[in-house]
Amino acid sequence: MAPSRSDFVPSPQGEAASGLAEPNPRRLLDADPAIAGDGLGCHAGKDAMLGAAKSAGKSEVLAQYARDYPIAESTGPHDQPQSMCPAFGSLRVGLRMRRTHTILSGSACCVYGLTFTSHFYGARRSVGYVPFNSESLVTGKLFEDIREAVFKQADPALYDSIVIINLCVPTASGVPLQLLPRQINGVRIIGIDVPGFGVPTHAEAKDVLAGAMLRYARAEAEAGPVTAPKGGRSGRPTVTLLGEMFPVDPITIGRMLEPLGLAAGPV
Ligand code: SF4
Repeated sequence: MAPSRSDFVPSPQGEAASGLAEPNPRRLLDADPAIAGDGLGCHAGKDAMLGAAKSAGKSEVLAQYARDYPIAESTGPHDQPQSMCPAFGSLRVGLRMRRTHTILSGSACCVYGLTFTSHFYGARRSVGYVPFNSESLVTGKLFEDIREAVFKQADPALYDSIVIINLCVPTASGVPLQLLPRQINGVRIIGIDVPGFGVPTHAEAKDVLAGAMLRYARAEAEAGPVTAPKGGRSGRPTVTLLGEMFPVDPITIGRMLEPLGLAAGPV
């Protein structure tokens, strides 16, 4: 699904000395004309989108994806199957997590396809969306809009965490989700870039969100005592289950863990 011309103007973000991206409209306007025309997103050509994202300050995360999910030069269709938008993997995992709200940042056509599919698969909850246009990309207003949306949704009575997913165009434009607060009113804020030109398939996109959640959980555990599980502590050491889980999975996994002297922990 390709964003329209009006959806995309090359990146407003630059690489700051701190390593964090800062808005840089000049760089955006000077970007390679190859990425300023029609046919962007998944039909734009991976190299053009990668180039835009790198010049917009996303080199580090893309290099990490390239290390985590290497694709050989000789890759054929069986190594990287043609499927719908890879970001669906992250979206689906987030939608299956209790007390977790998901917000998408991307082109309207991408968001339409992703939300359609998620409801087809029985999401049974709303998916947030922060729209943009050329101007809000150029000026960095999109980031401010995302920030505002996150503050509005961060109600600890409803959520423990909010996941914000940058799709292709915001990633290529360097929208700096890493500058969002780590938590608001006790609600964890987790921003991830899941571009189709950097994450090969659904499977890896699931991994991206699960990895971000685990990193966050690890930092919390290292910082001090964490909240006890709702159902109380088990007599045996537990394995916390994170990611896409079907209703009987914890029971089956619990049986597999039993001979090891372990128990299935919180999901
Ligand atoms: S976000 Fe998904 S649907 Fe949209 S352009 Fe990227 S790969 Fe295509």
